[in-house]
Amino acid sequence: MEKQTKFEIYDTTLRDGAQGESIFFTVPDQIKIAEKLDEFGIDFIEGGWPGSNPKAVEFFRKMSSKKLRHSKLVAFGSTRRKHLSPEKDPFLKALVEAGTDIITIFGKSWDFHVREVLKISLEENLDLIADSISFLRSRGKIVFFDAEHFFDGYRENREYAIKTLLVAQESGAERIVLCDTNGGTLPFEVEKIVRNVCSILKIPVGIHAHNDAGTAVANSLAAVHAGAKHVHGTINGFGERCGNADLTAIIPILQIKMGLKCLEEEKMNLLTELSRYVYEVANIIPPGNQPFVGLSAFAHKAGVHVDAVNKNPRTYEHISPEKVGNQRRVLVSELSGKSTILQKLAKYGIEKRSEIIKEILDTIGELEKKGYQFEAAEASFDLMVRKIMGIYKEPFHVEGFRVIVEERNSKVVAEATVKVKVGRKTEYTVAEGNGPVNALDNALRKALLPFYECISHLKLTDYKVRILHPEKATGAVTRVLIESMDETETWGTIGLSENIIEASWKALVDSFAYKIVKSVRDFSDYKHEGSDS
Ligand SMILES: [Zn+2]
Repeated sequence: MEKQTKFEIYDTTLRDGAQGESIFFTVPDQIKIAEKLDEFGIDFIEGGWPGSNPKAVEFFRKMSSKKLRHSKLVAFGSTRRKHLSPEKDPFLKALVEAGTDIITIFGKSWDFHVREVLKISLEENLDLIADSISFLRSRGKIVFFDAEHFFDGYRENREYAIKTLLVAQESGAERIVLCDTNGGTLPFEVEKIVRNVCSILKIPVGIHAHNDAGTAVANSLAAVHAGAKHVHGTINGFGERCGNADLTAIIPILQIKMGLKCLEEEKMNLLTELSRYVYEVANIIPPGNQPFVGLSAFAHKAGVHVDAVNKNPRTYEHISPEKVGNQRRVLVSELSGKSTILQKLAKYGIEKRSEIIKEILDTIGELEKKGYQFEAAEASFDLMVRKIMGIYKEPFHVEGFRVIVEERNSKVVAEATVKVKVGRKTEYTVAEGNGPVNALDNALRKALLPFYECISHLKLTDYKVRILHPEKATGAVTRVLIESMDETETWGTIGLSENIIEASWKALVDSFAYKIVKSVRDFSDYKHEGSDS
């Protein structure tokens, strides 16, 4: 019976999430994200606060002509100003004009805030809540009430905090959302408090948790365990300070681990893509160790682990990565021994007895001695294996490159020239950049784009330099790791040289080659060609 319960997921990436320090969404960004959330099957999308932000007004105006399949758009705002009637309050007016059927308003439930911030009596604050909700109801709106700082309020003046909820309920709110606005409440406290609130209120209770104690996801789950049926959060836990509860963890936990349905089963495997999409729009590099959706969430390195995962993935995986659209990765490293590499090679269709295996293992050993490290450079590893197998078709051939860095009008600029051959055609291009690697990237891109349109989706996301044998000072070897991504995948490439530009160039060339090889033909074509010849 319990398992059939439909939980409501309420996304506030566009409003609370956009409060994050390094997050900025334009209106077209917001629209793209809203459409993606709708496709995924999120129940409610909070689009912004039209009273406080002209961008939100534009967002709601543009969204009014779009049809969402599943999600309901919600406008967000506060209770009325203390000296204004609801009819005269410009913020409430803006909320109504946003045109959504549902409006979430937040009000104070902590007496301390009422006295110190609003500087009104506790009674007056109850009036603000009641008036605002009744007004919005009279305009035909469905109202959700966010009880701001509810948990702090409950600890300090329980009777009053509960009273604010009862007033909201009596005034016609259809959801009461308990907010841990300062994010400092702990899961066992949340559970106890939510259980009590659920026993008092007649309407569904929601949870809105911030992550200041690192417990936002745990607090949301504790609330659900205690009876909450409506969960707020943001994609990737975006949000001010330490962020909001991360829906990319909450959703799979509710759905897969707790068996509480919150979206269509077949949508679950879009989760990783959704997470990466939102990072991309926000122009933020995804952290590898993010639960469920991170690049490392199902990555195995140590030899014993890999061996066990090969026998049965359940040995070191709490769920199977496919369920959330993520992938199992086996990292290549001297630490992990032969079994890891054999597992990596399985997809290339090489039998274990093959002499090719030996050649590959020997080559890896040699390269690792020089300072190569393939754990974060799977794409370079892939190209190397293809070369040894004789199934690598060079998508382009580098004839040469040159970079100059100079100061022009007290500004340092870099200019790169690149000469590459594609088939029988030679391309010779020049490009500028804010540094030598950026200039090389631009020049190579320019040279290859006419032949390979797929390059336009390739983006370099990270660049790491490590000096090996630093005792040799400038004669030391430089290892460069470049991380790149496209719409579907993130990959790493490596370059080694005594010259940092050459090391960067090698990693860059590998990244472009990998992108072209994987986009132009999938691996099975190569395998087919390989076995034919
Ligand atoms: Zn919040």
